[in-house]
Amino acid sequence: MFDEPERGRAMVEPYEITDEQGTVLEVLEPDGGPAGETAADPQAAPDPGPAPADGPVVPQAAVNIAPRASWGARYADGDLTLEGPAVEVFLHHSVTAQLSPDASVEAEAEQMRALESVGQSRFGTGISYNVVVFPSGRAYQGVSWNRRGTHTGGRNSTARSICLAGNYETNEPTAAQVSTAAAIYGEGKGRWWTQAAPLYGHRDVTSTACPGRHAYARLDDIRAGEGTTPPSPGEPGGLVVDGAWGTATTRRLQEELGTPADGVVSSQSVYWRDRNPGLTSGWEWVADAQGSRVIAALQARTGMPSGRRDGKIGPQTVSALQRHLGTPVDGVISRDSLAVMELQRRLNAGRV
Ligand SMILES: [Zn+2]
Repeated sequence: MFDEPERGRAMVEPYEITDEQGTVLEVLEPDGGPAGETAADPQAAPDPGPAPADGPVVPQAAVNIAPRASWGARYADGDLTLEGPAVEVFLHHSVTAQLSPDASVEAEAEQMRALESVGQSRFGTGISYNVVVFPSGRAYQGVSWNRRGTHTGGRNSTARSICLAGNYETNEPTAAQVSTAAAIYGEGKGRWWTQAAPLYGHRDVTSTACPGRHAYARLDDIRAGEGTTPPSPGEPGGLVVDGAWGTATTRRLQEELGTPADGVVSSQSVYWRDRNPGLTSGWEWVADAQGSRVIAALQARTGMPSGRRDGKIGPQTVSALQRHLGTPVDGVISRDSLAVMELQRRLNAGRV
């Protein structure tokens, strides 16, 4: 287990982050591996959810981890699909911006995209870590649990990684961060890693300060595996960015546009229902549509001329929304709609 990394993938330089004293705060390096098995499509390998566990059944939904789509993952989801659970888990720190515990979901999503850009530019495999935990305690999925990342050189195929966003050589992790990391480590036993998979600090196996002395000092607390995550990774913006336009998205949109906030889009033509599978809960589909105030307000916000603001969803309104949001214009709200994801991001940021 502790042997040298294979160097099958030639000539990839490790990515090192050092401080002014030359201390290596973090070093990322891919394992060797068959180059032909890369999968560039980030949609190709969704989190399979609970793996067939060899241990006791673990209760579900103990942790909230915001999905990759929520922060706008743009690149590959690692480079290989991994079979079976991990046998060890490593704690890292990212040595990127030190956000405050009160940071917005939008600010955290931006950090996730920045982390992804680093991994993509260095290794071409998207974000390096499996899960990233911010000082707020919110957790975001990086490289999927069943995909190989670039976090713990030589053991990327057999280990998984929990990364604290920031520098924990110089900063203390927050209580919320430690609690979330512990919840994730506990939840992953028998699910993402074996029941017996130990948790180490990156520096236990590599010449680096990672995860930083202050985080390293909390390893036993995290190993205890008891903790909680904030109730929704979409808080405090309020919305999980999933590309599905349901009641919660409508309610936030109504609040934003100043129309009655009941979460319902009333009186819409049933003709458009099946053509727009991304419109989910809280849509009132009828044969004789009268339109709704929130859609009329949205039509105004997206610049449709006043004579066409009929309060009814349809290809013209959807196209106007897509143009307004800068997403591809096809006039339909598909499942996992890019336009709805962008709308949700903007609602979380308070700028529709
Ligand atoms: Zn590390």
